[in-house]
Amino acid sequence: MTQWKCSTCGYTFTSDRIPDQCPSCDERCSFADVTCYVPECGGSESGNIDPRLVHTDRSKKT
Ligand SMILES: [Zn+2]
Repeated sequence: MTQWKCSTCGYTFTSDRIPDQCPSCDERCSFADVTCYVPECGGSESGNIDPRLVHTDRSKKT
């Protein structure tokens, strides 16, 4: 499983593949792969999100 983050709303979710629409904001967004691949957050087997890749940029929203 891969962890994805919506570039528009910042929503993170787990899916085998990128959905057509964001489950949260229902937009056709681009999604960033935020899966953890390093031991610090559990490794790729853990299915964890890499916290370094998920910065909640609330300041970006207007
Ligand atoms: Zn979204």
